[in-house]
Amino acid sequence: MAGTILYLENVTVSFDGFKAVDSLNTYVKYGELRFLIGPNGAGKTTLLDVICGKVKPATGRVVFKEDIDIGSKQEYEIVQLGIGRKFQAPSVFGNLTVFENLELAIQKERGIWASLFGKLTSEQRDKIFAILETIGQLEKAHEKAETLSHGEKQWLEIGMLLVQEPEMLLLDEPVAGMTKKETEKTGELLRAIAKDRSVLVVEHDMEFVRNFAEKVTVMHEGKILCEGSMEQVQSDPRVVEVYLGR
Ligand code: ADP
Repeated sequence: MAGTILYLENVTVSFDGFKAVDSLNTYVKYGELRFLIGPNGAGKTTLLDVICGKVKPATGRVVFKEDIDIGSKQEYEIVQLGIGRKFQAPSVFGNLTVFENLELAIQKERGIWASLFGKLTSEQRDKIFAILETIGQLEKAHEKAETLSHGEKQWLEIGMLLVQEPEMLLLDEPVAGMTKKETEKTGELLRAIAKDRSVLVVEHDMEFVRNFAEKVTVMHEGKILCEGSMEQVQSDPRVVEVYLGR
């Protein structure tokens, strides 16, 4: 479908016969900020795992950029194709500076020796500074990452994904443990990022979703319960039932 960056068709993931994702169909458009919600065990993390290649679907197709079937590709191939995944816990290098963390991420593609001894090109430096600005960490560029707040570490990690120039970002509960102010800033950051990329976010913080979601997908028992704007899904009786157990 034109304008679709990711298309999931009839995707099923089984763990010893248990369907964590069950015949699921959805698509994400270019430039979309999509939130994936649902009760614990709904299959949200498994769905991100399928898209990034960590888990292979038993059936169905995972199609990136209209014609690339990524369902059987390796994780590193999917990264190279332009999908970046961030897990919940920040994993920045505390004893390196913010700049050095981004430098390491940018050098990754050139191998470990280049990353240890290589010099950045001026283009790469510019790119790092542009990303520092995007993630609001220009002033902290030369601070050790271990001195950053929890929120700042999360933004740095998002920056480390951005240096790879992904076209799609997968984020797992990016605002977990953040202050209200950090949560707000993260929402603005994701909005800015989604302007020229697609972002798919698994999230439990409903206030955050309400404030920033353009489109929400609600999962339950491996299936999509409903999709639409936050207003639409909130007023769907099936969603109320799943969340309140009525
Ligand atoms: P969510 O992220 O929505 O909380 P998950 O995707 O983590 O849900 O899990 C969906 C279901 O799949 C759960 O019942 C979980 O126990 C099961 N599951 C997830 N990963 C595995 C695995 N590696 N082996 C067996 N069962 C799993």
